Amino acid sequence: MQTLHFVLEENMLEVDCPCVTPEVVLKASGHVDKFTDLMVKDEKTGTCYRADHLLKDFCNEKLQKDLTISTEKAAEFRHVLAVLDDLSAEELGAKIKEYGITAPDTKNPLSDPYPFNLMFQTSIGPSGLLPGYMRPETAQGIFVNFKDLYYYNGNKLPFAAAQIGQAFRNEISPRQGLLRVREFTLAEIEHFVDPEDKSHPKYSEVANLEFLMFPREEQMSGQSAKIICLGEAVSKGIVNNETLGYFIGRVFLFLTRLGINRKRLRFRQHLANEMAHYAADCWDAEIESSYGWIECVGIADRSAYDLRAHTDKSGVPLVAAEKFSEPREVEKLVIAPVKKELGLAFKGNQKNVVEALEAMNEQEALEMKAALESKGEVEFQVCTLGKNVCIKKNMVSISKEKKKEHQRVFTPSVIEPSFGIGRIIYCLYEHSFYTRPSKAGDEQLNVFRFPPLVAPIKCTVFPLVQNQQYEEVAKEISKSLTVAGISHKIDITGTSIGKRYARTDELGVPFAITVDSTSSVTIRERDSKDQIRVNVDEAATVVKAVTDGLKSWEDIWTSYPHHSSESADD
Ligand code: AMP
Repeated sequence: MQTLHFVLEENMLEVDCPCVTPEVVLKASGHVDKFTDLMVKDEKTGTCYRADHLLKDFCNEKLQKDLTISTEKAAEFRHVLAVLDDLSAEELGAKIKEYGITAPDTKNPLSDPYPFNLMFQTSIGPSGLLPGYMRPETAQGIFVNFKDLYYYNGNKLPFAAAQIGQAFRNEISPRQGLLRVREFTLAEIEHFVDPEDKSHPKYSEVANLEFLMFPREEQMSGQSAKIICLGEAVSKGIVNNETLGYFIGRVFLFLTRLGINRKRLRFRQHLANEMAHYAADCWDAEIESSYGWIECVGIADRSAYDLRAHTDKSGVPLVAAEKFSEPREVEKLVIAPVKKELGLAFKGNQKNVVEALEAMNEQEALEMKAALESKGEVEFQVCTLGKNVCIKKNMVSISKEKKKEHQRVFTPSVIEPSFGIGRIIYCLYEHSFYTRPSKAGDEQLNVFRFPPLVAPIKCTVFPLVQNQQYEEVAKEISKSLTVAGISHKIDITGTSIGKRYARTDELGVPFAITVDSTSSVTIRERDSKDQIRVNVDEAATVVKAVTDGLKSWEDIWTSYPHHSSESADD
């Protein structure tokens, strides 16, 4: 479903990169230095806890269980919960102290919060000299392969590459089943765009969607999420750009088509500190479950940060080019260090001074030019030497020259939807589950209302009663379902038909084919329990049409004779 909805729809490239990643890659991306969570330790036993989780649990408990707290205090706890992801180590530590929060198991005092790196370290090869990490996300594999991917896409932007695979994070406190684990399936899309043109050709297909959005401003002022039209959020600048908006819309369609309840799905914008400093904008698709609102998909505009970081570290330019139809005349700054003079003045340090001069940006260079012209010399800081040097007029020439350019070379921006598959599946289970009374009314029966496209088993085949002729027909139908690529189960046991229906409802199987004659059979839909009658040789085709999403059950219901039977409702 994900491949169909995203990869095929956008003609994305698919990649499969290794899980074990050399340190140099994750050093460049910033993960070695910054991929941390804040941890506190029980000062006596050394047991570790996530600092923000303790504060969150404390505020939630006070709000839910302590009836004596004042309205001001309750508002304060709600505010802390709203800005929790925005708090620095110092602010978290101060709140933990202020509220007197202690270690949950022992009630011992806690240490100040400190960063803990979430990556699992390893070493690559037998020497043990090459450090590596289990990848904490799949994205970096795509960034380091950008040059080849761009080439495979015919050197054209925009394009996207997708990857699904395991990610590893040494979580401080894994909890809540599939929701916080140390090894999980991540599906990531890296969509590369020109930073000067973040429009999307198919944006109009999602612009009219309306759903729950929770912009930064509303969170900070204590309001709740509200229904907003996506197109309006983009045009008002609440969502940074069209491509980001397009993917927010596509993620909304994906999750609701999976069976996530739209009333329990919201898109929450990251708070200013929560967002990585380089990100232009970031929204999380959060799904409400019995554990509260859970971040299941992150959709971020990561700007050009990742490609620039890998370019700087590797020296390989990860860039794209826009070819002009006509050459364009541009004014270019030319910085030409006079190496002979610099060598005489700085001897062994000449190379550092040359590099520093060449690395000046336009404003710095023009300021130096003006100073050299008025004063003849200028103080200049050379970071690699750790000191200032005196640059004289004869040591560098700075000018603006007109040049013809045939292309514009730039680092693309990347827009990244990142899906936690386990979290989505868990929430889907919660949203799809319901119970209904049995026909006799003495029992509650379990049902999963998985949409046909999603249900792992699409169909069951039952002979109504144990009878060789019916069994033969059931086997024939099973064969045609296999040929059509439809996952199914055949049950030829003598269990009552009502029990067999109840068993498959519990597995979320959307259709049941029951053989009650040798010429025609019934097809029962799980949630309505409605049945139609079709010819034996049509059964597989009808089921395929609905499970592939080509027809709805309503279409089928109006095209075939209805069948009523006591046994459909057990
Ligand atoms: P992030 O890169 O932190 O935005 O994570 C991307 C997605 O991975 C999140 O939206 C979650 O759905 C999922 N995720 C992150 N950490 C975990 C975890 N420890 N266990 C399961 N899923 C996770």
